[in-house]
Amino acid sequence: MALTVVDHPLAQHLLTQLRDVQTPPPVFRTIAKRLTIAVMLEAVRGLPAVEVDVQTPLERTTGRLIFPDIVAVPILRAGLGMLEAVAELFPEVSVGYIGLERDDVTLLPTSYYEKLPPVEGRHVLLLDPMLATGGSAAGACAKIEERHPAEIRFICVVAAPQGVDKLRREHPHVSIFTAALDRDLNDRGYILPGLGDFGDRLFGTGSDSGLPRSRPR
Ligand code: URA
Repeated sequence: MALTVVDHPLAQHLLTQLRDVQTPPPVFRTIAKRLTIAVMLEAVRGLPAVEVDVQTPLERTTGRLIFPDIVAVPILRAGLGMLEAVAELFPEVSVGYIGLERDDVTLLPTSYYEKLPPVEGRHVLLLDPMLATGGSAAGACAKIEERHPAEIRFICVVAAPQGVDKLRREHPHVSIFTAALDRDLNDRGYILPGLGDFGDRLFGTGSDSGLPRSRPR
């Protein structure tokens, strides 16, 4: 499994703004979208492309278009903060949704919502900004892999070593693209140093202190 950390100065500039506890939700949403585009620049590398003829105002030449057979699947709810960026880059994208929550008894991710377009033979971009324990990511990959996609690319903003290891063990064919590989998880499953609860910060549902209220998925 390939792990790509997008260490581009612009990605790091945007990530630093996202990490800042002072960044309010409206700005957080805008920066999250921009950072998703920066990570996508790497994440689309190697997707099938077709050579096409194109007429410029001056002459005919050839160019390349990325084969648009892409399915984007945000994991609810934080993955929604990445979807607009992907849909802007690829207006023809098919979109599916997966909602997962942790079962309080088994502690395993269980699905509370799943709506996927056909994925067989297609390239799936799985969107979830925070790869923490890897439970949701692995659960979502399992659901998609049942449907035989050509491949899954997992696109996030911050990853923890624990989440990367879990995906590597359980879904070795999934490639991961992130703007940062952080140090650790705390005892509540939050990434350190991380940026707090992405969903709360995106939707303005966190505490005024910016500290996460509850355990993440
Ligand atoms: N989900 C988040 O939103 N933040 C974390 O740090 C971990 C999981």
